[in-house]
Amino acid sequence: MLLQHTPKEITERKALTINPAKTCQPIGAMYAALGIKGCLPHSHGSQGCCAYHRSTLTRHYKEPISAATSSFTEGASVFGGQANLMQAIDNIFTVYEPDVIAVHTTCLSETIGDDLPQIFMKAEKDGKIPEGKTVLGANTPSYVGSHVTGFSNMVKAMAALAEPQEKKNGKINIIPGWVEPSDMEEIKRLAGLIGIKTTMFPDTSGVLNGPLTGEYNMFP
Ligand code: SF4
Repeated sequence: MLLQHTPKEITERKALTINPAKTCQPIGAMYAALGIKGCLPHSHGSQGCCAYHRSTLTRHYKEPISAATSSFTEGASVFGGQANLMQAIDNIFTVYEPDVIAVHTTCLSETIGDDLPQIFMKAEKDGKIPEGKTVLGANTPSYVGSHVTGFSNMVKAMAALAEPQEKKNGKINIIPGWVEPSDMEEIKRLAGLIGIKTTMFPDTSGVLNGPLTGEYNMFP
């Protein structure tokens, strides 16, 4: 049977192809965190959220995506996820030794009302954050915004760590927004061509478009 589509149907199909899907905020936060050297993204919510975010990024970039989760169960969903996050911070620094843990919230932890800055302060007070290591957090409830909002929220959390310096380093900071790793590479190349030294953050080039070497690197 020959299927005939009306002009309206054809326009709608084209619109579906042209307009990218809007997906949940934590995916953007996870993508941004992967653009920071030695950073492990951490999903503060259930294992299902983290698995979905990782698999979406893995499917798109064809790269293994490392991320940790607070693994909420019924108890955390009712009483809050502080204990899970404290345990996670301790485990992650002990086992995976990242320089930075970038925590993003999910629908569940936002609905419960978990207070990330308060949990980080407690983790620091209890000695769970080793000297020279950083934990940062972004609020990324998925019932507002999209993956692009989540990316921006995580970048804001990174920028909040900046400290004023007496001496200028002669570089320009470039904050690229959500573009692909190859676009980031190209922006850096163009800046180089006109003789500008830059610091790009986040920078996922070489992380999510790396060559297949056959060796696994947790923090490429
Ligand atoms: S529950 Fe919220 S954060 Fe988790 S996968 Fe669904 S939309 Fe995303």
